[in-house]
Amino acid sequence: MQEGEVWAPDATHGFIKGTVVEIGSDTLTVQTPDNACIVAAYSKVFPTSDESLVDDNCMLLQLNEASLLDNIKCRFKIGKIYTYTANILTVVNPYRDMAELYTDKVMAGYKGTSLGKLDPHTFAIADKAYTDMSYRGVSQAVIVSGESGAGKTETTKHVLKYLASVYGNTSANGIEDKLLQSNPLLEAFGNAQTVRNNNSSRFGKFIEVNFNKEGEIVGGHINTYLLEKSRVTHQNASERSYHIFYRLLAGADADLRRDIRLRDVKEYKCLSEGRSSQAMGDAKQFGAISNALRCIDVSDAEIREIYKIVSGVMAFGNVEFIDSGDTRGGSKVSPESYDWIETAALCLSLEADDLQQALTSRLMQTKNMKKGTTYMVPLKKKEALHNRDGLCKSLYTRLFDHIVHNINQSLPLSEKSSCYIGVLDIAGFEYFETNSFEQFCINYCNEKLQQFFNSRVIREEQELYRAENLGVNEIQFSDNQDCIELIERGFVLLNEEAKLPQSCEKHFTSLLHEQNRRHFRLQLPRRSKLSSYRSMLDEEGFIIRHYAGAVCYSTVGWLDRNSDTLHSSLEQLMLTSDSVLVTKLYDDVQDVKCNKKMVQDSVGGKFKKQLNKLLEKLQGTATNFIRCIKPNQHMTAAEFDGGKVLNQLTSLGMVTALELMQAGFPSRIAFKDLYDMYSKNLPDNLKSLHPRMFCSALFRAIGMSPNDYRFGVTKIFFRPGKFAEVDLLMKSN
Ligand code: ATP
Ligand code: MG
Repeated sequence: MQEGEVWAPDATHGFIKGTVVEIGSDTLTVQTPDNACIVAAYSKVFPTSDESLVDDNCMLLQLNEASLLDNIKCRFKIGKIYTYTANILTVVNPYRDMAELYTDKVMAGYKGTSLGKLDPHTFAIADKAYTDMSYRGVSQAVIVSGESGAGKTETTKHVLKYLASVYGNTSANGIEDKLLQSNPLLEAFGNAQTVRNNNSSRFGKFIEVNFNKEGEIVGGHINTYLLEKSRVTHQNASERSYHIFYRLLAGADADLRRDIRLRDVKEYKCLSEGRSSQAMGDAKQFGAISNALRCIDVSDAEIREIYKIVSGVMAFGNVEFIDSGDTRGGSKVSPESYDWIETAALCLSLEADDLQQALTSRLMQTKNMKKGTTYMVPLKKKEALHNRDGLCKSLYTRLFDHIVHNINQSLPLSEKSSCYIGVLDIAGFEYFETNSFEQFCINYCNEKLQQFFNSRVIREEQELYRAENLGVNEIQFSDNQDCIELIERGFVLLNEEAKLPQSCEKHFTSLLHEQNRRHFRLQLPRRSKLSSYRSMLDEEGFIIRHYAGAVCYSTVGWLDRNSDTLHSSLEQLMLTSDSVLVTKLYDDVQDVKCNKKMVQDSVGGKFKKQLNKLLEKLQGTATNFIRCIKPNQHMTAAEFDGGKVLNQLTSLGMVTALELMQAGFPSRIAFKDLYDMYSKNLPDNLKSLHPRMFCSALFRAIGMSPNDYRFGVTKIFFRPGKFAEVDLLMKSN
């Protein structure tokens, strides 16, 4: 390290090395090598140190956010994409094929190897989860997080592949195969090309792998969260709808095309809105989807039915309406062309006339007439289009759920199961230029997971240090419970708004502001964003200060986005289908004769319940964290955008975790356990000591530096990596 050299904050690189040239009362002025001056608060300037790359950030001589970023960056540059921070693994997406990291031989190498012995790797975390589960009998969770394109789904696949290959017993029941085959299926129906990721998961998932007492895989279960349904009908520029549509169109043979009335991809407006249609490999991938469906025991007849419904959804999306003159009840709309209605009806085994009527009119029950009397009210064009979109989204999400259900049916939750390893792959914190209800839900989820992360990594560590009298300084961290409660109040208000006869988002937004005046986490949209502010005044919105930064939400369309309700005339119509599968998709719909809004959970309400259930589950597991990082926004190899990576490290809670760890002792073991591990091979005079005395004598004998460990009340605590050193020394003697 050069005299006076420091890390100074820099928007582009995250941190930049320089020399302090001026010391102010609150700030330091740092001169960079190209003679620029950076003025920064003391808390944002960090000491540098010259050291070689380390596998575990906790081994850095100077542990701070700048050195953490630098270590991750330098490792990335030489192809080392994995780094630990104690037991937390970070992985930087290499955006290139690194098959050499994932071979069978590499997998076998990690089997039964304790964390830190080999290079950091997802396999090491998967192995730790398995070993901890086997020895301690506690179910495990692996929480994989990161922003879109950071590599969560790839990492999840690595965990599952490792468990299935290393600890699976493929000949016994084929469960491993089904687990692995569920991936191409979920991706076909739940992933899409977006501007951030060509294979972006538009839903969250928690995959459980169940093991028996012997440690064999005996079952599995998948829970999915928040499929982005708006994508079925609308996509942003350069984005696509779900892969399945394009893959079916590209890969179906002539017979299937005819049978399910497929046309050229360009004819489907609902697919080419984003103007990004066919992609490389679509046709090839189609074969894999059919194979995966067979693998989870779906019959060929049902596979055809599934594709038929997919074709029906596409045809529906193309139905347009025109005003066709006045009727007594107001203007009447009819389909622009009967063609698409007929195709859709055929694919869903419905009568085309019934379908047209259900789309363009609504069944009403009147109070004035005799009880039970119903009549049809013609809809306006806008309402008919809304109906069309609602039906597309409803059919597609129900089909998605049905496929997940099929996977679960083929993966029985075995009674023999004693423990499980669950892998969570769910979208990370999101802040785009325009943020809507979907971001609100996702960021709510991330607040909850961050709180969980805090409680696991930070609070528990602190409590333990205190209980063990280690004398380690406490770190302060702000709890985010207030933010979680604010968002939950938002969900409640939105649901209440939906019940009002004249509900509107503007009213909801102003109530939220009114009821939470002077709340630290809530603000009106800022004036500085004048252009968007003007529209915001019309549209209404709010800013929430999340743990990872402030996000401005626009509340336009939230009532609709929060509603899972389809008019019951349409749901009733689906029950009249001749297709067993279509009626099955709607089998929870009651046979009601009037047009009451279905009493169903709102999207937000349902998600909140699901999330609470998930967190309850996670509370009962030992948790392992993998944080995925996107090195740049261009999806290219070798480019490392330090500023953006630093933002991600903050969003992932790593910066907070670091503050504790740099002062901490991440490895620990009870005196008695250490005694049991090593005493048998040692001379009797050592053996006869009390475990605490034994450990003390042992460490002196092997020359451990007192800085590397601390004695607590019941346990010994090690600086990162030091326990592994003791173990190595003892085993080599
Ligand atoms: P989203 O939230 O949008 O679903 P994600 O975090 O799941 O994003 P992935 O789909 O896992 O992101 O990764 C995006 C792409 O990055 C992959 O399609 C792949 O090309 C590349 N990638 C990710 N991880 C790796 C890896 N370990 N090795 C090689 N390439 C990778
Ligand atoms: Mg994904």
